[in-house]
Amino acid sequence: MTRPSFFCATLLGWLVLTAPLFLAAEPGKLTVTWLDMPVHGLAVIVETPGGKVFLVDTGGTKKNAELDYNAGRDTLSPFLKQRGYTEITGILISHPHGDHYGGLEWLLQNWTVREFIDHGYEGRGQSLAYKRLRDLATQRGGKYRPMLAGGRLEWDASLSLELLSPPAEFISTGSDPSKVSEHGLLNSNSLLLRLQHGSQVFLFPGDAYGGAFETYLKKKVPAEKLLTTVLTAPHHGFNPGYAFPAMLMPKHVVVSCLADYPGNANTPNPRSPGDRAIQVYGKLGAEVLVTAFHGLITAVSDGEKVTLTPSHERISKPAP
Ligand SMILES: [Zn+2]
Repeated sequence: MTRPSFFCATLLGWLVLTAPLFLAAEPGKLTVTWLDMPVHGLAVIVETPGGKVFLVDTGGTKKNAELDYNAGRDTLSPFLKQRGYTEITGILISHPHGDHYGGLEWLLQNWTVREFIDHGYEGRGQSLAYKRLRDLATQRGGKYRPMLAGGRLEWDASLSLELLSPPAEFISTGSDPSKVSEHGLLNSNSLLLRLQHGSQVFLFPGDAYGGAFETYLKKKVPAEKLLTTVLTAPHHGFNPGYAFPAMLMPKHVVVSCLADYPGNANTPNPRSPGDRAIQVYGKLGAEVLVTAFHGLITAVSDGEKVTLTPSHERISKPAP
């Protein structure tokens, strides 16, 4: 919003639609906001009852002749400024893919970020560009903390923040680990954050999905810890199997995706994973909200109940 010369008309229209909803968070309550972005990615802002703010993933970037977009610069930072924050308590990156850490570098360079959390992975598929961000976080005065299942974050006394996955040995997504794609390996081993506020539970699984991930959860995580009030749909709503949602029985599901994926012609629904997610999670009785259709989505918890509010009514219809 501060650099209008960089935006195309489409992006400006999108900002006008979204900007008026950046109102103050309710004091003493937990506010979780899933941002609506013009580029594929996930970015969630968590404003704690104690007045702190942390981020789960930082969205993506895109630069071409029509669009120069950085989720950190163009969406997250304007939101945080409008809310009156002067520093970020923590940034958690679920896994090192660009649609989740795209805005991170800009935020580290332009904000005070107290802690930077990821799973500390150093192996196959890890890019040098991503590893440098860990160094940047510490160079800028923050603390880098690699964490795995069992790790806890002490960011607000009224919240219980625990990581349920991945385990130290990582989840292998196939019988022959050498045949597992790097992309799939990193998705399956996304940090799975469980946030509890009173009796209300939020689950942030990054892009983790699939049989090996579900087997790990069944064997290693107590079933009661998986019962979820608000689920961020894993992998942007792509590949929503039934086993994982059935373990969680979420009351609300938020999907962060675009309205159209033209290159995704082989899936049952090439238009948007949001439509399929509405069907799958809806069958479990969950309320499903999709950023592509409902805009910016806000959840407010008082510890006993959660209220979700979309910034607008559904503006896209499912593909016929
Ligand atoms: Zn992703």
